[in-house]
Amino acid sequence: MQITITTDLNNNANLIRSEAVSNGRKLRHFFGDPLVNDDSSFKHGNEMILIPNSTQHYWTWQVRNPINTYNATFYIGDYAHWHDTLHGEKGVLDLDFYPLKYNMAKAKKHWAVTKDMLRCFEYWMGPYPFYEDGYKLVEAPYLGMEHQSAVAYGNEYKMGYRGKDRSGTGVGLSFDFIIVHESGHEWFGNNITARDVADNWLHEGFTSYSETLFAEWIKGKDSAFAYTTGKWALIKNDRPLIGDYGVHKEGSGDIYEKGAAVVHMIRLMINNDSTFRQLLRGLNRDFYHKIVTSKEVEEYISRFVGRDLKAFFDVYLRSTNIPTLTCTTVVKDRKIHFEWKDANPLFKAPIAISRDAGKTYKILQSPDEMTYDTYLVRRDLRVKAVGLYKVEEKQ
Ligand SMILES: [Zn+2]
Repeated sequence: MQITITTDLNNNANLIRSEAVSNGRKLRHFFGDPLVNDDSSFKHGNEMILIPNSTQHYWTWQVRNPINTYNATFYIGDYAHWHDTLHGEKGVLDLDFYPLKYNMAKAKKHWAVTKDMLRCFEYWMGPYPFYEDGYKLVEAPYLGMEHQSAVAYGNEYKMGYRGKDRSGTGVGLSFDFIIVHESGHEWFGNNITARDVADNWLHEGFTSYSETLFAEWIKGKDSAFAYTTGKWALIKNDRPLIGDYGVHKEGSGDIYEKGAAVVHMIRLMINNDSTFRQLLRGLNRDFYHKIVTSKEVEEYISRFVGRDLKAFFDVYLRSTNIPTLTCTTVVKDRKIHFEWKDANPLFKAPIAISRDAGKTYKILQSPDEMTYDTYLVRRDLRVKAVGLYKVEEKQ
């Protein structure tokens, strides 16, 4: 991408200090007229070349990886800049930070989390997918956007989402929502991209779950689970997550939080964090720089967990139904019978049994019944929803 700024753009004689930033890497920046210069003028790499009597600035940025059209962007501003590196899974990743100059001190402190966040994301989801293009965080006049390798930042240097916690638990105030969410898209959205916007839950659901993974990294699992389930209150169930194919129509705004709930339920179905991590890493490896459909990802996950999850995905992605789990206790047999209502007969979702004031006793993979141990008293056992469904208990 070539960006040209005329010196009279804002009648500011100091414009020469402005910087144009885009995706990928800066190849050259010069002040002059490209028509009277040949490429030999640009041999100074990143150095600005000053050509007297010219009125324009030119920057050339180059992206080496495939990029979605909506991710191609440029920023022009009076930026400060610092460089850092992450010794990551694929080698040395260049990190470049561009806050506006007057926010430099704030940014140095507030953006310091980025390195640890990228480490967390590499741990859970695999190597950062665009080493060749580096990672940049760039201040922008809007809230944020996942522009590939040049993430837009406009969260006012506040924690949470503009200083608020979307989960209502307080956990969301322990990180900057925009840095985390928009960077999470580098894996889900930018590396793995939906073929049709109707399948954008693949972008927003998994990326919203990346917030949970980072919450877990810094605050532990209990806080992270509280964060993720806290956001379920935002789910509207107005329309299915999957929109209309072929007409550029996204599904419901629930692609964020209900989408993340789908990912969370898959995690509980797997019920083993290192295996769940292998699933996220496997998706990013096997669909590396690829365009996919929701069906392909659903089938991949079914194969991975070794169980056909079609009925599960159909309920949560293609309908607005919320199933009910009916639990009927037969005390004399020490048994609880489970039955799903308002769902395909093949529907299954993980359930939790808790005792002793809510502490989880075990996670069950949607059994037909369970027998409880003789030392347990039924009234001390609770069947807890750990997914998007209601629980109805009958004695
Ligand atoms: Zn997003």
